[in-house]
Amino acid sequence: AKSAGGNRSELADPEADARAITRHGLTTALPTALERGEFFIEYQPLVHLGDGSVRGAEALVRWLHPQHGVLGPDRFIPLAEHTGLIVPLGRWVLEESIRQAREWRERYGEQTTAGPLRINVNLSPCQLSHPGLVQDTVEILERAGVAPDALCLEVTESALIGADDDLLKPLRRLAEMGVDIALDDFGTGYSNLANLRRLPVSILKLDRSFTQGMQQFPADPVDLKIVEGIVTLAHSLDLAVTVEGVETGAQAEQLRILGCDTAQGWYYARPGPPERLHELALVDATG
Ligand code: C2E
Ligand code: CA
Ligand code: CA
Repeated sequence: AKSAGGNRSELADPEADARAITRHGLTTALPTALERGEFFIEYQPLVHLGDGSVRGAEALVRWLHPQHGVLGPDRFIPLAEHTGLIVPLGRWVLEESIRQAREWRERYGEQTTAGPLRINVNLSPCQLSHPGLVQDTVEILERAGVAPDALCLEVTESALIGADDDLLKPLRRLAEMGVDIALDDFGTGYSNLANLRRLPVSILKLDRSFTQGMQQFPADPVDLKIVEGIVTLAHSLDLAVTVEGVETGAQAEQLRILGCDTAQGWYYARPGPPERLHELALVDATG
């Protein structure tokens, strides 16, 4: 039923056609893009809600495409996952952001109020099941002279739903070495909360959809109750709570009152070049 007819109507839609071509074009351009160094990383600060200090940053990859300009990860990460290029690309992101963390530490580590800056790196499910993950990570950290506890790997809740022990083993090993594991987009994956105990995670990253419910002041009472419940549960399991997508001071204040530990969002800073973080951390250190 879903054959020629569907195809014909797709061809009749020039925009869909252009999108498909772009998708195909982007997919085939990915490997050379990595060789040519067309990817770059922007960093978004992670701010302690209690004292407002910058504690680290999340690394977010972008592609400076020679024809299409800067492309966000949503445009090409799914393609890279599909083709397997995500493994070398993810390794590059890890290497580059750990090198950056090293540079921050050398230049500003002693001067921040909260000590050395930490680096958060996203890990896709394909990287998780790739056998080289632990060894690659160890080597990258050692080569850069960065301690494992300066690194946090972010894994989405949906990637770990129903994960068997084979998938969790590398994460456990990394956690034992001192690498923090954060459960990204938490609250969107309908995971069994009791399941949390089984996972080697130390941080919950509350999805942006929860933060959006705090945009008005006072916030939606149901949203408040849900976040309050998650924070209480997380803390009772010794997990720290990071909130993403904080866009206003009112949101930050309510999330602070609810007991969230760390925040990230446009209210503090948009993702930007590494020099921006130098500035933010320095401003923070000098008051
Ligand atoms: P994510 O891990 O949930 O990252 C947070 C996203 O929210 C980022 O989008 C960030 O720019 C955006 N954001 C930050 N603050 C705010 C805010 O206050 N309001 C709003 N509306 N958005 C905010 P970005 O950079 O487009 O990244 C999208 C996704 O791509 C990421 O979602 C992550 O899942 C993935 N990604 C990014 N870099 C990498 C990478 O190196 N490897 C892998 N596997 N995935 C990556
Ligand atoms: Ca993330
Ligand atoms: Ca997220």
